[in-house]
Amino acid sequence: MPANILVIEDEPAIQELLALNITQAGHNAIRALSVEIAQELLRSTLPDLILLDWMLPGMSGIEYARRLKSDSQTKAIPIIMLTARGDEYDKVRGLEVGADDYVTKPFSPRELNARIKAVLRRRAPQMTDDPIEIAGLMLDPTTHRVTGNSTNIDLGPTEFRLLHFFMSNAERVHTRSQLLDKVWGDRVFVEDRTVDVHIRRLRNALAVSNHQDLIQTVRGSGYRLSAKND
Ligand code: CA
Repeated sequence: MPANILVIEDEPAIQELLALNITQAGHNAIRALSVEIAQELLRSTLPDLILLDWMLPGMSGIEYARRLKSDSQTKAIPIIMLTARGDEYDKVRGLEVGADDYVTKPFSPRELNARIKAVLRRRAPQMTDDPIEIAGLMLDPTTHRVTGNSTNIDLGPTEFRLLHFFMSNAERVHTRSQLLDKVWGDRVFVEDRTVDVHIRRLRNALAVSNHQDLIQTVRGSGYRLSAKND
């Protein structure tokens, strides 16, 4: 599943390079040349990750990182800081304000992509493309293929995203509104009942290989994927 990555960098040539890298890694790059533009973009949609330059005109990257991390709307978005400086003091400062990682310019595309992947895996496992297997149910994000004990399972796009999210966050209970946020996207106007409809479809599809009971209803709370029966 491609991630939406917001790149905040005031130098157009470097921004271009970063966006190219991100696109080649299979993600979507959203560009902002300044903190003001970034703020405007964040009003309409929240990205999955922010690449934030340390040296920006006006508000510095480190100040902006602190602000993003103290705002309840944006504090969960992982941040990778970009800087020309490589000294330990800056690195510590960046991590202290809540940045998740740190890349020093000039960066190699391979290093940058490895760090993006590591942060996404840690913070949003459903954004990486590693195959996941639970109790004989296998989901491959790259090919969009799902099999149950080697039998093909046909899923619609929403059921696929729902299953991907469940499998990436196995054993955890998710409320309907959390599922709407994570699977349908932020600030989308959908009724809670919609979740139940897609859960039913997902269970019907999984019944082909007898995996329907992995999707459990937790009374009064929501749903979870679990291989345990308790
Ligand atoms: Ca800069």
